[in-house]
Amino acid sequence: MNNVRKTVIIGSGCSGWTAAIYTARANLKPLVITGHEPGGQLSITTLVENFPGFPEGIQGPELTENMRKQALHFGADEMHGVVTATDLRKRPIEISVGKDLIYTETLIVASGASARWLGLPSEQALIGHGVSSCATCDGFFFSGKPVTVIGGGDSAMEEATFLTRFVESVTMIHRRDQFRASKIMLERARSNPKIEMLTDTIVEEVLDPTKKEVTALKLRNLKTGTLWEHPTSAMFLGIGHIPNTRPFVGQLDLDDEGYIKTRDQVFTNIEGVFACGDVQDRRYRQAITAAGTGCMAALEVEKFLEARGE
Ligand code: NAP
Repeated sequence: MNNVRKTVIIGSGCSGWTAAIYTARANLKPLVITGHEPGGQLSITTLVENFPGFPEGIQGPELTENMRKQALHFGADEMHGVVTATDLRKRPIEISVGKDLIYTETLIVASGASARWLGLPSEQALIGHGVSSCATCDGFFFSGKPVTVIGGGDSAMEEATFLTRFVESVTMIHRRDQFRASKIMLERARSNPKIEMLTDTIVEEVLDPTKKEVTALKLRNLKTGTLWEHPTSAMFLGIGHIPNTRPFVGQLDLDDEGYIKTRDQVFTNIEGVFACGDVQDRRYRQAITAAGTGCMAALEVEKFLEARGE
């Protein structure tokens, strides 16, 4: 068969581009399929202060763009598109990107994780009109206004604290009275005079889709049953992420939340298929750890091909 790639990388976040840099430098001419969120989660952040090598910090989109340029410089190819299906048992491995079929000897899955939504029709109708999963991207549009953040983990604490730089006030809404957030981030949010916390509370509806803007949230206190309307200008979701593993269901071993199960960091249950970054990491989820496992997956691809005499 012609046109069989040595390796294909699904995903263009930190892990995907790092894997591309390494495999490109090993002369494997990787193809990176960028996915629905080119640049991954860093593309929707602002200043990254904890990626080593940048003492003043670096903007998230700039960091992944630099990685992309570095990979392309060494000969990586890039394809804009979303993987719709895969056949990982076939040899060569078959990947569908819409109507296009791509064949490869090895595969690196670096498809990351996407923001989780509440799933309310009124929420979905108002995405981009006051409902957002990215405070750092969209917070600025609500300068001087009251906003709401949903969630009780570190993401929610971080988003709420960040928003207080320019919004009038932040109401945090969490469905329990226990928090998953680390102590330090919870305390930082709690001690911020602009943040108010409502616990044991859920959002039942986002108002008002007919006006194409967020005007209020219908809330319910789960302990008392009280239902009320809370005026607000925006709702930011900080309720975690869902791994992008749909094209691999029934083929790769996944855990109960859909993350790819790996052994020895990057090996999946299928030979020649490796996974790296947030799609297989529910614990660390950092840019640097994603880059680290991207490097590991690339080195394992090299070893795998070498062992087969290539
Ligand atoms: P998380 O720790 O899983 O927290 C998700 C929060 O959202 C939980 O409070 C959860 O409530 C709530 N939630 C989930 N589904 C919900 C739903 N359908 N409706 C209402 N609430 C819902 O996720 P995360 O905050 O994104 O953090 C993920 C990981 O990244 C963690 O390891 C975290 O430490 C790390 N992180 C670190 C930093 C930092 O250090 N700077 C920043 C962000 C994230 P329950 O508690 O009731 O389940």
